[in-house]
Amino acid sequence: PAVPTDRVRVDPGAAALRSPAETARHLREGARSRVAHSRRFRMAQLEAFDRMLRVHREEIFSALAADLGKNQVESQATELQIVQTGLDHAKRHLEDWMRTRSVPSPFVLAPVTTTVTARPLGMVLIIAPWNYPINLTLAPLVEAIAAGNTVVLKPSELAPATSALLERIIPQFLDHRAVGIVTGGPEVTTELLQEKFDHILYTGGERVGRIVYEAAARQLTPVTLELGGKCPVVVNDGDIMSVARRLAYGKFMNAGQTCVAPDYVLAVGETGPRLAKALGKVIKEFYGANPQESKDFGRIINVNHVQRLAGLLEEGTILAGGQVDEADRYVAPTILTGVDSDSPVMQEEIFGPILPILSVPSFDDALRFIGDRPDPLAAYVFTERSGVIRAFEEGVRAGAVGVNATNIHLAVPELPFGGVGASGIGAYHGKAGFDTFSQQRPTLNKGTRLDTLKVVYPPYGSAKSAL
Ligand code: NAD
Repeated sequence: PAVPTDRVRVDPGAAALRSPAETARHLREGARSRVAHSRRFRMAQLEAFDRMLRVHREEIFSALAADLGKNQVESQATELQIVQTGLDHAKRHLEDWMRTRSVPSPFVLAPVTTTVTARPLGMVLIIAPWNYPINLTLAPLVEAIAAGNTVVLKPSELAPATSALLERIIPQFLDHRAVGIVTGGPEVTTELLQEKFDHILYTGGERVGRIVYEAAARQLTPVTLELGGKCPVVVNDGDIMSVARRLAYGKFMNAGQTCVAPDYVLAVGETGPRLAKALGKVIKEFYGANPQESKDFGRIINVNHVQRLAGLLEEGTILAGGQVDEADRYVAPTILTGVDSDSPVMQEEIFGPILPILSVPSFDDALRFIGDRPDPLAAYVFTERSGVIRAFEEGVRAGAVGVNATNIHLAVPELPFGGVGASGIGAYHGKAGFDTFSQQRPTLNKGTRLDTLKVVYPPYGSAKSAL
C-alpha cells in the first residue's frame, strides 16, 4: 500500500478526462491506499475546502442566481453558511471524533483492553438534488472527508450552473485521489451505481430513492436516503402576525423548493381565516405588491415544475398570489383555502410557493390527520402552550420537530438531519454525519502473559460447568 500523506495533491486536467466508472475506480484506488485516513490529511482537505469557498464565493452566488434566482442573502444563509458552519464544526471536533474510546469489559475477561475507534468506510458516493445545489452537495462532502473516506460526488444536472462550477473548482482544491466529481443525468448515476461503494448518501425524491436503494442492495452497500414528503404545520395559537412571518419565511424561501418547507397548514378552530389574512399581509411586507419584481423571491427550477405547480392551483380558492409566468419560471407566493384532503395539492409534495390552509376542529384532529399520512421530514407547531408542545412532540412521527419556527433547525450542526419512515433512512450533519460515514470498530486486546482464559478451555470438567 502507498504511504499515506498529509499533503493535498490536485490534478484538475486528469480528473476532467475520466469517465464515471474510471472516476469510481480511481477513488477506489485512493481508498485502498488509505490516502484519506490520517488526521493531518483530513484537516488539510478541510482547509483546502475552506479556501475554495472563500475564493469562489461570488461565483457560487452567481451560479445559484442563474439556477434558482436566489438572492445573495438567501444563498449565504441557506447554502454557503450551512456548509461553512459544518466545516468549522468538523474542524473543531475532528480530533475528538477520531479519538479511540476505551469501554469497560466483563470482569471474567480481565486483564483485557477494549476500545472503539471510528474507522473510514472506504469509498462513498454522494448523490445530490437541485434545490440547494451547494448545501446538499457540499455539506455531506465535508463530513465524508472528515470521516476519512474517498468520495465520488454527483451533483444534480437540473442545476446546471452550480453543477458546472463545482466540476471546475473541486478538482482545483481537493485531492484528486480522495474526491472526484461526476456530472450528468440519470445515465451517469446509473453507470455509477454499477460500481461497488462502501456507502451511498442520496438526497432527492422517493422515486429515484428507490432506484438507488435497489442498486445499493445488489452490492450490499449501506445507504442514507434523504427524501422528502409533505411537512405539516399545526397552527394552534400565538401572535398571528409573527406566526405568519415565520411560516412565510420557511415556505417562500427558495420559492418553496425546500425539503423541510411547510407544505400545508392545519389551522385549529377559528385560526384559519385570521392566519390567511395575516399571510397575505406578510407576503406584501416581504416581497412588495408584485413579488415577481422583488429581487428577494426566487424562481422555479424549470418549466416542467412550473406547469406541475400551475396544475395544483386548479382546485381551491386562491386568497393571495396565484399568478404564473412560465417564461420567467415564476409562480407567485400563493395562499390557498377550500381544498380538501383528497385534492391533488394535498396528495403530492408541493415543492413550490403554494400554501394550502385546512381548518381542523381541534388539535387532536390535527395530530390524527398527520398520523394518517406518511412520516414527514419535519413537522411544525405554533403555540404558546407547553402542554400542546408536549402533546405534539409525543404525538407526531417526523424527521424533526420545529416549535414556533420553520426550517432553521438545519442550521444547527449538533442536530442530526434526516427522515424517518417515508422521509428517509439515516441522518447527517455534525457528529451524525461523521458517524454515518464511519464504522464504529471495536478492538479487543488481551495480553499473552496472564492466560486467564484457561478457565474456559476444554476439556470441560465439572468444575468448569459450574462457571
Ligand atoms: P433530482 O431530480 O435532482 O434528483 C436527485 C438526483 O438523482 C440527481 O443527482 C439526479 O441526477 C439523480 N437521478 C435522477 N433520475 C435518476 C435515475 N433514474 N436513476 C438514477 N439517478 C437519478 O432531485 P429531485 O428528486 O427532484 O429532488 C427533489 C426531492 O428531493 C423532493 O422530494 C425533496 O423533498 C427531496 N429533498 C430532500 C432533501 C433532504 O435532505 N431530505 C433535501 C432536498 C430535497
